[in-house]
Amino acid sequence: MFRFAPSPNGDLHLGHALSALLNAEAAAASGGRMRVRIEDIDGERSRPAFVARILEDLDWLGIAYERPVRRQSDHLASYQGALVHLAALGLTYPSFASRAAVRAATEAEAARTGRPAPRDPDGAPLHPGLDRDLDPAAAAARIAAGEPHAMRLRMDRAVALAGPLSWRERDVDPDGHPTGTVRRVAADPAAWGDVVLARKDAPASYHLAVVVDDAAEGITEVIRGADLFHATAVHRLLQVLLGLPEPVYRHHRLILGEDGRKLSKSAGSAGLRALRAAGATPADIRRLVGL
Ligand code: GLU
Repeated sequence: MFRFAPSPNGDLHLGHALSALLNAEAAAASGGRMRVRIEDIDGERSRPAFVARILEDLDWLGIAYERPVRRQSDHLASYQGALVHLAALGLTYPSFASRAAVRAATEAEAARTGRPAPRDPDGAPLHPGLDRDLDPAAAAARIAAGEPHAMRLRMDRAVALAGPLSWRERDVDPDGHPTGTVRRVAADPAAWGDVVLARKDAPASYHLAVVVDDAAEGITEVIRGADLFHATAVHRLLQVLLGLPEPVYRHHRLILGEDGRKLSKSAGSAGLRALRAAGATPADIRRLVGL
């Protein structure tokens, strides 16, 4: 079972088209099936209006997938269940520190040690574990009083509990097609620090929701952009901790914009709608993404 999992915070662009087409191709070639999942639990950025536009663009591209389309916002109880499971293992803690407080703490640490602040594989400052050792009763009182907080993973304990981790990666040629080799990649989730599992405006983080959903939908192979390669380490860790099955992963090249950077949601001339309005056909899109 394959899946394409867009976030409805903008219209689809050529990068999404490559992912969707590679998934559809793999599904067709293996007699496998494909699903579409709308990753809409980021309350700040998700816009319901984009959902219909995304599905319309997929239809236009000729992507066949099974219904119903899963929407993460319909499954909040399953993410909550996973969070409770991790909490019962002693692997979570509430963190009340604002983003500004986290930044100040990392900068102070950098000034103290004279070394640049440690960063995660995406280049964001690593969370320094603020609030990790708060008194549980005091933390509970602050939560009861409505103080905003995020639930974070105690990465050191989680990694110790899970033991050495790796994932299966299907190698691809420059087009994004499988070479036939599946290798094991050593996973280093600790490089991400105490990742967020949930916050007030997003009852499950991307990492937590994606592993729960991939398991719930019986996804056996995850084909997605290379920008998520290192995040797979966190996904493997959560799968092991939650007792979820292990899909094979395949990360494909990214489509870059004219400025040489990864396409963003406001992809402008690389947006599928803009291309379609300018007369592009689905066959043109395939060519534009190099298929
Ligand atoms: N929703 C993510 C995105 O649009 C993709 C997540 C995934 O494929 O694992 O970037």
